[in-house]
Amino acid sequence: MSKQGKLYVVATPIGNLEDITLRAIRILAEVDLIAAEDTRRTKILLDRYGITTAATSLYDHNEAGKTPRIIERLTEGAAVAYVSDAGTPGISDPGYLLITESIAREIPVIPIPGPSAVVTALCVSGLPMDRFAFYGFIPPRRGRRRTFLACLSKERKSMVFYESPRRLNETLQDMEDILGDRKIVLARELTKIHEEMLRGRLSEIRGALGEKTLKGEICLILAGAGEDPPPQSDEIIDNLIGRLAADENLSTKDIVERIASESNIPKKKLYERALNVRRKPSK
Ligand code: SAM
Repeated sequence: MSKQGKLYVVATPIGNLEDITLRAIRILAEVDLIAAEDTRRTKILLDRYGITTAATSLYDHNEAGKTPRIIERLTEGAAVAYVSDAGTPGISDPGYLLITESIAREIPVIPIPGPSAVVTALCVSGLPMDRFAFYGFIPPRRGRRRTFLACLSKERKSMVFYESPRRLNETLQDMEDILGDRKIVLARELTKIHEEMLRGRLSEIRGALGEKTLKGEICLILAGAGEDPPPQSDEIIDNLIGRLAADENLSTKDIVERIASESNIPKKKLYERALNVRRKPSK
């Protein structure tokens, strides 16, 4: 019987080369071919572990042309490992086409788990991680970025993003404008010498950064809607009460219940503000 080909999807370190599993090292050494996003970058890792397996490149711009050749090797019975530059292949990285084409041909696709910046950042963020939403890279253009953020205003889960340091300051400003002064965690250069975690509200992190442009790789974790919202000014609360009263014709009790269920504002305070708003003559 002919040998069955296999595709191994192998996670590699996101900085510290020690962050690789024993199984990943063994698989990379045993397969017939390593398909890598950048063979020069992967060679550094392979050299570190004395792995001499042949490597070929497979990246965003050649994947349509190159994938059929790798699929051919797999259908002939070869064992192939796919690695991206860092972290888990396919997570904001190439690999999707090779994986889906292999699945379509019933070639076994075997995960070799390991690091990914999203989970590495989230697990030390201090923000809720029982549920989270990963949004990958934030759109680089301002207009699209602002629309993208506006669409996330109701997301209650912690949100994880990848962002370039060049756009960081603009992005933090847009987040604060559109989503309010929420808690954010900036995880920079994880597992590397200059690893740094900045935790605070958007305004605090922006204040701490000033005009400075950070360097290195950055992952952002933003608190979801309703997750420990920032203290609201009386004016914002009054506007909200006024809008609920006018638009939805809710009773004072219902207004208080509604806002209390979606915020951390004490009901006592809400009653006081609601009575105050009701007392004001309408314009
Ligand atoms: N596939 C990778 C993974 O599983 O995390 C992600 C690749 S994506 C092209 C690269 C982005 O991931 C960076 O721009 C940064 O946002 C984030 N990232 C990667 N390594 C990181 C690190 N060591 N510290 C912080 N963020 C990192």
